[in-house]
Amino acid sequence: MYSSVSDETLNQIALILGGEEGVEIIDILREVEEITVEELVEKTEIQINIVRKILYSFYNHSIVTSRRFRDKETGWFIFQWSLQSRLIEAYITGMKQKILKKLQSRLEFERQHEFYHCDNPTCPNVTFEDAMDTVFHCPVCGEPMKPIDNESAVIFLERKIEKIEGELKG
Ligand SMILES: [Zn+2]
Repeated sequence: MYSSVSDETLNQIALILGGEEGVEIIDILREVEEITVEELVEKTEIQINIVRKILYSFYNHSIVTSRRFRDKETGWFIFQWSLQSRLIEAYITGMKQKILKKLQSRLEFERQHEFYHCDNPTCPNVTFEDAMDTVFHCPVCGEPMKPIDNESAVIFLERKIEKIEGELKG
């Protein structure tokens, strides 16, 4: 049922959104069809407020879905949580589209600017416009800067963009 998204991809997203505890929760959601917050707490021994927080974060990112029903004995509402496989695909596609947009605007920026650098590996590249402000001296270390070739950065970005575009086309 979850074959459309690899375990590794899902774990990466769980880690970003919920840390190690997020991965633990995802591992359990993979094994069950539905589960309550209380059952998750019992299985993971993670504090209930943290389990709730992580579930809501997953929910906001379309990774899990919840179903509400009424407990026959107490009459209270209970929420059952489960992995949402179709929405996961949508989420990952959306994430890739966002990354693609960032890479495209970075590529445009690299193509439209000349860059200067001081040769100190820990110092940043500076645009021609900003380099003029400091009379071509590094804003970090103060050493004189020389124009640099950003061709390798452009090629790197072009390759990444091509790869993601290919993935999105499927
Ligand atoms: Zn420098």
